Amino acid sequence: MNRARSEALARRARDVSPGGVHSPVRAFTAVGGEPVFFARAEGAHAWDVDGNRYLDLCMSWGPLVLGHAAPSVVEAVRGAAARGLSFGACHEGEVELAEAILRGFPTFQRVRLVNSGTEAVMTALRLARGATGRSHVLKFDGGYHGHSDALLVRAGSGLATLGTASSRGVPDEVARTTVVAPFDDEEALARVFAEHGDRLACAVVEPIPANNGLLVQRSAWLATLRTLCDEHGALLVFDEVITGFRLRYGGAAPLVGVAPDLVTLGKVVGGGMPMGAICGGADLLDRLAPVGDVYQAGTLSGNPVSVAAGRATLAALEDGRVHATLERRGAELEAALVPDAAAGMSVVRRGSILWLYVSDAAPPRRADAIDAEAIHRFARLHGRLLDRGYYLPPSGHEVLFLSAAHEPEDLAAFAAAVRQEAALA
Ligand SMILES: *Cc1c(COP(=O)(O)O)cnc(C)c1O
Repeated sequence: MNRARSEALARRARDVSPGGVHSPVRAFTAVGGEPVFFARAEGAHAWDVDGNRYLDLCMSWGPLVLGHAAPSVVEAVRGAAARGLSFGACHEGEVELAEAILRGFPTFQRVRLVNSGTEAVMTALRLARGATGRSHVLKFDGGYHGHSDALLVRAGSGLATLGTASSRGVPDEVARTTVVAPFDDEEALARVFAEHGDRLACAVVEPIPANNGLLVQRSAWLATLRTLCDEHGALLVFDEVITGFRLRYGGAAPLVGVAPDLVTLGKVVGGGMPMGAICGGADLLDRLAPVGDVYQAGTLSGNPVSVAAGRATLAALEDGRVHATLERRGAELEAALVPDAAAGMSVVRRGSILWLYVSDAAPPRRADAIDAEAIHRFARLHGRLLDRGYYLPPSGHEVLFLSAAHEPEDLAAFAAAVRQEAALA
């Protein structure tokens, strides 16, 4: 497969931008080779600048639940753009999007729209801190919640649970207000809350962690987290930037059997345009300015074009048929990928989210149990599949996303290709 134009663009890009990219994982560092430059995309396919066509299994990392350039979304965006790209003032669409989001979260009464998932989580932390008057937050080892200071923190060494920055530029003073615990470990939870419970404003967790493989948690572990938050007066924040509206219309709480106090959204609610949201009860959300004394603002928040994309996307999801299709396609793909136990690979799946774990070992539930060899094998598999016209997320730590536009025949061919190449990778 000739990718000369992509390669030339990658060289040009590196001359003008750090690593030639505007978000690090796009640089293909984890899998080797040069990044592919996309020219256009439609449905489940993308075309690169050299004219190669790919079945896209990355799908912009999750927003495109209806597929690339879904006609109803594009039409809504065109209409909105023609009526004004940004108002910086109130408009009807943002009321309708907030109402549509709340129909997915019947126990909540308020939504605030922001511009990204990072911003949504950052706002949730400030709100939790403002509402509780406490300083610390709890996150879990390997969880990604955007690139705000408080969450670019990993577990400290030894038994210490206070975090250390995972990026230069995050002050130690900030990193030390983040407590980090492992997933899947009730004893560690008990220890953390015994030691830090009275200063925790909140715990933040994806109800189905999908940013470091798919580390599906036991419901009992999530229930323990909920109980400990209640006993210690900490809020529970579900970061549903990936899971929100992807697995069902609304959040994952009914799927995991645990209810959060606040939910952060992004990706699907923007339908492919920049968007994030934070939702919760009126008691909490009305602590945000201008009603309350927790400040938060945004020039482009509630942007009419992004809101139009979000509304059109949620409108297509509301009757549940798209999610039923996605579940069926996901199940078929899973069955085709691992027809027998001896394939040297397993698939962890929830709905249209799949993680390829290229190992004979059982897939782990915590980040530190991910086998480095599985990640290396994924990297080799990635390059082989790319050359066969399959665009996967460029890291074995990332999950695959299906959309309503992924056709069964394409997925069957993809599964056959994966099985052939995984045997060689
Ligand atoms: C993608 C993601 C974020 C960050 O969202 P951005 O829009 O990239 O800022 C936060 N949390 C989770 C769980 C995510 O998957």
